[in-house]
Amino acid sequence: MTRIYFSARPEKWLEYQSPLRSALGETGISFHLAPTFDDPEKVDYIVYDPKGPLRDFTPFINAKAVLALWAGVEGIVNNPTLTQPLARMVDSGLSEGMAEWVTGQVLRHHLGLDEHICRTTPEWQPNAPPLARDRKVAILGLGALGQACAKALSDLNFDVSGWSRNPKKLTGIKCYSGDAGLQKALRAAEILVLLLPLTQQTENVLDSKRLAQLPKGAVILNPGRGGLIDDGALLAALDSGQIGHATLDVFRTEPLPTEHPYWAHPKVTVTPHIASETRPESASRMIAENIRRGENGEPFLNLVDRGAGY
Ligand code: NDP
Repeated sequence: MTRIYFSARPEKWLEYQSPLRSALGETGISFHLAPTFDDPEKVDYIVYDPKGPLRDFTPFINAKAVLALWAGVEGIVNNPTLTQPLARMVDSGLSEGMAEWVTGQVLRHHLGLDEHICRTTPEWQPNAPPLARDRKVAILGLGALGQACAKALSDLNFDVSGWSRNPKKLTGIKCYSGDAGLQKALRAAEILVLLLPLTQQTENVLDSKRLAQLPKGAVILNPGRGGLIDDGALLAALDSGQIGHATLDVFRTEPLPTEHPYWAHPKVTVTPHIASETRPESASRMIAENIRRGENGEPFLNLVDRGAGY
């Protein structure tokens, strides 16, 4: 019997029970919903939602892996009680949703949809937008999500560059790494997309110095994590006109407090951490594949490098 401990918000079990059962098969598997299970030492795998109740992994002495439902692991990676291997979520549905959100937001600014749709006075200004091939978009973070977005934008002919920790070669994308590479990516970015994980190295990566390296009037899209941006520096750059607009999906504190200046700022669009989410059908197949690997002694997919923090 393979025992799976499912630690998530109660409504998540309603979404996941059927896809997980169909991905794992009905025989030889038992599910135990957190927080009720008297024999943690009998658990083989933990399915982990950061919003679930589990904080102390110590009692799960025989668990072969913790399988996270989220792509971002900043809330668990430094948990000192976690000694088991940690796999993060890489889900085709999550990538597809993120590519749709980022493409939609890029097209909003590229086509000037706000000016043309939200106009309040009769004005006739026939300024056609440039072609996508003449619009430079940079993506910081070329992982599962960054690459999906880079491909979607490149397929629409946008002039796409990206930045990652390790050098990469991706068809149709200018790939940069290192500090000098970051400067090159920023200097050309009319639209900048943040899809980095939040780690000690990436916190405040977009500070006043980096904001000043962007072309004047650049647009920021942040579906990554709130801590990637120095909020005070961004507000100052918006007020000075250095940054034209920021569409922010993630924040240091969520929900974004009602008194936060982002809500009322005319150059900020707030979305409530909805850029994408893990989809139960495709995510269950990923979880099942990792459990199959664990049972066969094969290496897990998408293991988190705890030293690197992602
Ligand atoms: P990955 O781990 O697949 O990719 C992370 C990318 O960031 C990699 O390209 C990595 O480089 C790069 N990176 C990490 N550290 C650095 C650094 N110090 N300098 C330069 N590049 C760095 O993550 P995903 O693409 O799956 O997810 C990215 C983030 O998106 C998540 O961590 C999460 O915070 C956020 N997210 C937001 C959602 C939302 O709804 N708003 C939904 C899901 C995720 P390398 O390739 O060299 O390792």
